[in-house]
Amino acid sequence: MAINEYKYGGVLMTKPYYEKENAILVHADSFKLLEKIKPESMDMIFADPPYFLSNGGMSNSGGQIVSVDKGDWDKISSFEEKHDFNRRWIRLARLVLKPNGTIWVSGSLHNIYSVGMALEQEGFKILNNITWQKTNPAPNLSCRYFTHSTETILWARKNDKKSRHYYNYELMKEFNDGKQMKDVWTGSLTKKSEKWAGKHPTQKPEYILERIILASTKENDYILDPFVGSGTTGVVAKRLGRKFIGIDYEKEYLKIAKKRLNKGATYGL
Ligand code: SAM
Repeated sequence: MAINEYKYGGVLMTKPYYEKENAILVHADSFKLLEKIKPESMDMIFADPPYFLSNGGMSNSGGQIVSVDKGDWDKISSFEEKHDFNRRWIRLARLVLKPNGTIWVSGSLHNIYSVGMALEQEGFKILNNITWQKTNPAPNLSCRYFTHSTETILWARKNDKKSRHYYNYELMKEFNDGKQMKDVWTGSLTKKSEKWAGKHPTQKPEYILERIILASTKENDYILDPFVGSGTTGVVAKRLGRKFIGIDYEKEYLKIAKKRLNKGATYGL
């Protein structure tokens, strides 16, 4: 591949849906698009892939009974299919990550064990297992389980002895009142004030992305989100002066992401 075929910051080979001030959104299937990103060009990848929990069940949201189904993108028929999905996107993501780059993947019990295994199978070394403890989780309607109140975020680097990942130890310590930052992060579900641009069923809170980005990247670094949804990673990356590429195959979600990128992050302002 000739190097000058990569436009848009020298890293992308296709016309974006949106491009402004170092933030790019691409309307595409990540399985195809990742091959159009320059190999070893990304400093960090944050991925919030489908959790595959849409099984026709019910949950509680703000006091209302709602379906847990997120959309067709969140449905899968077997464990094998789920694991194959995770192995394939992680393999492609690895190709675009710099040798010293890192990847963060969020998930719940429905997918995170497959993600962890896929990371190791595809040549990653897991650095941390972050538990995001939600202070206001939805109650469990069936009363047959403990309330699901956590999600997991795995942080990994390439499993290569020469790989030297970046960790802003001092800043994380400062955030934790001078003590080492732990791998349990406590906070609320995404606030209504961050959901002003439209409805996405799994919008992440901005404070989670802020910590991830500050911990593992420097200003002007390239960040990729192959399942960008409503654009949370992008708005925080932009506010913190990082370059950003986000991909989603649902136009409706990219419209929300575009609105948010045009306005800027809510958190911390
Ligand atoms: N972190 C996001 C946010 O804060 O809004 C939510 C991400 S959501 C869990 C996963 C997203 O991946 C959905 O918006 C879905 O449309 C998208 N998606 C699923 N499979 C995809 C694929 N193969 N290519 C591109 N996008 C995909």
